[in-house]
Formats: sequence, structure tokens, C-alpha cells
Amino acid sequence: MTEHFDVIVIGAGVMGSAAAYHLAKDGWRTLLIERFQIAHTYGSSHGESRIFRFAYNNPDYARLAMQSYPHWRALEAASGERLLEVIGGLDIAHEPAHHPDVEAVAKALAQVGGRFELLDADQIRARYPQWRLGDAAMAVFSPDSGFLRATRCVQVMVEQAVKHGATVREQEPVTAILPGQPVAVLTGVGRYSADKVIITGGAWINDLIRHVSLQLPVRVEQAQVTYFTPLRNAESFQRERFPIFIHWRNPIPSYGFPIIDRPGIKVGFHYEGYFVHPDMPRTPRDETTRQVLAYVREHLPDAAGAPFEPTACLYTNMPDEDFVIDFAPGFDNIVICSACSGHGFKFGAGIGRALADLVEHGATDMNIAHVRLRRFTSLSSS
Ligand SMILES: Cc1cc2nc3c(=O)[nH]c(=O)nc-3n(C[C@H](O)[C@H](O)[C@H](O)COP(=O)(O)OP(=O)(O)OC[C@H]3O[C@@H](n4cnc5c(N)ncnc54)[C@H](O)[C@@H]3O)c2cc1C
Repeated sequence: MTEHFDVIVIGAGVMGSAAAYHLAKDGWRTLLIERFQIAHTYGSSHGESRIFRFAYNNPDYARLAMQSYPHWRALEAASGERLLEVIGGLDIAHEPAHHPDVEAVAKALAQVGGRFELLDADQIRARYPQWRLGDAAMAVFSPDSGFLRATRCVQVMVEQAVKHGATVREQEPVTAILPGQPVAVLTGVGRYSADKVIITGGAWINDLIRHVSLQLPVRVEQAQVTYFTPLRNAESFQRERFPIFIHWRNPIPSYGFPIIDRPGIKVGFHYEGYFVHPDMPRTPRDETTRQVLAYVREHLPDAAGAPFEPTACLYTNMPDEDFVIDFAPGFDNIVICSACSGHGFKFGAGIGRALADLVEHGATDMNIAHVRLRRFTSLSSS
């Protein structure tokens, strides 16, 4: 027998969980289907923390982050759990070659009315003596940056969706989507139908959207984060004194977090270029750990103790590093969402609102015009 729903959401990473949470809260009969268990570690949305920031070099993402912020706070109010910690953030350039990157962040923040301070090398040294950056360094400090407790965000959104009546099916890979009115969705164990469908497959997005005759030019990359036990002055790496950071540098930017729940700072390289198949085992690479340790030794020497808990995760990158959120071309009842490129989590609660708006009203006030499919003329639905 086919169970019928108003909306089926495929994939329970941060994007699918957020969409299901908003839809169920709005009173839509919602089914959320996940191929693994909720909060599993094979996709992109698990872990202790993700950076939250308005500080982008692109005002469209800065605006979308600002719009997402109240949705995270509303989720906290509904669940009674603190998920977003605002502790401030630094965008750092230690060489003149990267000053334009940091200046672009300041410019975008100014454009959208975000708060920030520009710091020169002396100011950075005085405020953040943990850093070794040299005399050419400059930084933007954004007081509104911080971190989200990633795994808990997903779990809490699913809990809230269920509280509002959503049905969740775990360990059920979707094997086919049959467009129509209604849309049929088949899994290894069940057959469901719905008036509308939202597809959020993360690294598996192309396996799912082939059923609507679409493929995106995404490349799946293994990304790694590693913790480092401070050698000395551990108190200077606590959240009150060590803001999250993005360090614009060659060959690739790095980013990191203060000590949160584990006894060390967490650091990663953004876009390492190690491309994988999403079904491959996630194996942290010793070479990456060594390179990140060398980076920490150079720029944060007091933190450069023993590396621990290296963790691999997946980036699903579009060539332009922008997301895709839109109706599948030719279908007004199927919405697709590929919102990673290594920077999607912070928008999760807001993108969930946008996805819910698209199926509920066909349009949204969330700032997603820049991530619609129309930028690819050959794929566009409008
Ligand atoms: C190491 C790392 C660090 C990051 N740091 C940041 C950061 O600091 N700030 C930030 O904003 N972003 C960050 N990101 C990016 C962010 O985590 C991602 O943009 C976001 O998690 C993507 O969520 P998603 O829901 O699109 O994908 P996923 O989390 O992968 O969810 C997709 C889900 O779909 C399920 N699925 C796939 N196929 C099927 C099927 N056939 N049937 C049923 N279910 C299916 C998958 O199992 C999965 O659960 C980081 C990512 C990584 C990997």
C-alpha cells in the first residue's frame, strides 16, 4: 500500500532536516527519508562544530546568513537547547596578496549593515597574541561570528519535525523518484507518494536527481579537520579569547575553532582537492594531518601539541562554489537543494525555510536568487 504525504523530503542532513522541521511546523504532512540513520557520519552535516558567520566576501551570502540567524534562534527557543554560540570571528591575511580577500569581506559586511572592525598587525598582536602573522598582517573582526553545534542541530531539527507530526524513515535509501501528480518515491522497503518532493542528497545528489533528468557539475571532495592539544597557555584558546578564524593564504585557506567540547583547537584546510566517490570509506590522511600540524606550528605555536581525532567529511563542490536551490527544470512540484561547496551549514535553518517556502508558496523571501539554476542557461527551468 502507498502511504501519501503532502511533502516528502529526501535526505536528512542539515538541509533536509531543516526543510522537514519548517514544513511540519507549518502543518504540512511531511515524510523525511534518510538512507542511513539520523546524524550519521558518512555525509557532510556531522561533527562538533561548524562556523557561523555573516562575514562573507559576497553580500548575497552575508544577507542569507543574516536571514538564517533568527531561524537558528527560533529553533533554540522551541527546543530549549543552545545550538549557536556567537563568540566573534577573524578573517585574516598575513600577506599583502590576500589583503583584497579580507577587504572584500569588510566591503560586503558594510554593504549589508554587518558589524566589523579592521585590525592591523599591531592590533592583531595586542588582542590575539596566540597568532604569529608578521608585520604585513591585517584582519577583519566580526563580532557576530561563532559556531553551531552541528550534529545537535540536525538531531534537534528532526526531533522538532517529529514533534510537529512528521514521519521519519531511517535506513531507507530512495531508489526511484517517479515524477507526476502525485510524485511516487520508492525505497528498498516502501512506496510513498506526495504532492511535492524536496531532494537534498548531499554528495549523492546526482544519484537522486537523475530521476528528474538532471545532473549537476558537482565534485565530491574529502575534507578533514584535526584537533590539536595546546602545548601551553591552553586558556588562551578558550572561546572567550580565541575567535573562530578563516585565514586567507596560499595555497589554500585554513579555518579553525577554539576549544569547545574537546581538549584542543580544531583546524582544517578549505578545498584540499582530494576528490573521492561518496561511497568510499572516509579515511583521514596522515599527510593532511602533518600539513595542518606544520601550519599550526607556524601560526599558532602554543597550540601545536599532539594532533588527535582527525575526522574526514565530504564537500560537494559546484565549480563556482555556489549552491543550487530551485525547482527541478520542468517540474513545479519537485525542489532540489545542493548547498554545500564546503560552506552551507550556517544557512541550514534558513535554507530549510526557503525550501519549505518554495513548496508551500512557489517563492521565498530568503535571499537565494544567486543560487537558482538560471545561472546555468542549459539547466534552467525559468
Ligand atoms: C569538514 C567540513 C567542514 C565544514 N565546515 C563548515 C563550516 O564551518 N560552516 C559551514 O557553514 N559549512 C561547513 N561545511 C559545509 C556543510 O557542512 C555542508 O554544506 C552541509 O552539511 C551540507 O548539508 P546537506 O544536507 O546538503 O548534505 P548531507 O549532510 O550530506 O545530507 C544529505 C543526506 O542525504 C542522504 N541521502 C543521500 N542519498 C540518499 C538516498 N538515496 N535516500 C535517502 N537519503 C539519501 C545522505 O545520507 C545524507 O544524510 C563543512 C563541511 C565539511 C565536510
